Amino acid sequence: MNYYSTNNKSNKATFKQAVVEGLANDKGLYFPEKIPQLPDSFFHQITELSIPEIAYHFLKPYVADDLPDNELIDLLNDALNFEIPLVKVHDEFYSLELFHGPTLAFKDVGARVMARFLSKFAVADNKVTILVATSGDTGSAVAHGFLDVEGIDVVVLYPKGMVSEIQEKQFTTLGKNITALEVKGTFDDCQRMVKEAFADKELNEKMQLSSANSINVARFLPQAVYYFAAYAQLEDKSIPFAISVPSGNYGNLTAGLIAKQSGLPVAHFVASANINDVVPEYLKTGIFKSRPSISTISNAMDVGNPSNFVRILELYHGNWEKIKSEISGYSFTDEQTRAAIAQVYKKYNYVLDPHGAVAYLGLSEYLKINKMQGIFLETAHPAKFYDTVMSELNGRLQIPQRLKESLKKQKKSIEIGNSLDDLKEILL
Ligand SMILES: *Cc1c(COP(=O)(O)O)cnc(C)c1O
Repeated sequence: MNYYSTNNKSNKATFKQAVVEGLANDKGLYFPEKIPQLPDSFFHQITELSIPEIAYHFLKPYVADDLPDNELIDLLNDALNFEIPLVKVHDEFYSLELFHGPTLAFKDVGARVMARFLSKFAVADNKVTILVATSGDTGSAVAHGFLDVEGIDVVVLYPKGMVSEIQEKQFTTLGKNITALEVKGTFDDCQRMVKEAFADKELNEKMQLSSANSINVARFLPQAVYYFAAYAQLEDKSIPFAISVPSGNYGNLTAGLIAKQSGLPVAHFVASANINDVVPEYLKTGIFKSRPSISTISNAMDVGNPSNFVRILELYHGNWEKIKSEISGYSFTDEQTRAAIAQVYKKYNYVLDPHGAVAYLGLSEYLKINKMQGIFLETAHPAKFYDTVMSELNGRLQIPQRLKESLKKQKKSIEIGNSLDDLKEILL
């Protein structure tokens, strides 16, 4: 399998090259040349497969040229060693709980798999510096994924004052090969600085940079796995189902769309956004217009220029009619999000985090007009957004032990401005 750049189809890379480079040298995103179909036999036996086994069947054709089978199996067993339960919330609403990994967010799935690929591919050559922009959860998932991995340094850029205390503590207290940069700017600034660093000649001559954002194929492709795992757990597979994805950079949704093209019998996708709604707007009007992000309580989705949108266009050859026949988009305010957290807790005794609440709301809108069952992705543990969630609940919210431990530790970060020069000064 080769991967081409979304900016130029003849600019190709192997899986290994795509993983190590992150972004193509023409600033395009790597995209697989074809989407292999999973055989009927896979779907017949899916209820008996473990998550690493599902992952193996899905990922094999994407990576087989660069990694022997037995190494791939070991890597997946090691990376995907936590549960991804599908929980019935009420009636036809199911929550896919993606927050049972080490940093309690869905990004553990992609980040843990990616870290293992990268350490296999990179260490043999040169030391690699991973640059990662985070709006909250990516930083901790990537930092934990790479902590103590030899030959790899991780530099996390995050917007000052715009991530929750728990999120910040999870990636600023690790030390060792992890450096946290507190950027005086927005998440979009962080993301832009990372992109500019990749394109910078001097930096590229002096160091081997890579990305752990969902622009990296090894981060976004493994996310397709849990869409199959969700289907495997659906009790009644004869009723059509929709999946609602709380979206920011749209890597998660893109992975779901790829799962569908590989044969997953999902009827429809819902792109659920907060007021940073450039994709729901695109679905409505056919016009994609990026704009500065606005901060919300579902901060991991505060993205004004979603990096994976080009991959969605690529998947559907830019055909808006086709895209909107497969995806419905909705956006919600913080007020609606808070109300959903309160209501779902009160009525069904289920605690949503703000991102899951947005996905729940999107699914509710869609199921109002389409009779089917639905799955919404719960992308973070509610305790990661303790203050927001607590203020909507009367009950008590347990903080998992893992989070308590990071909270006790001392934050260490370096404050920098929001220009490429500020970043270069630190890196060089
Ligand atoms: C990153 C993140 C999202 C958005 O995922 P994308 O792949 O960027 O669309 C949603 N929820 C949580 C909790 C996240 O950390």
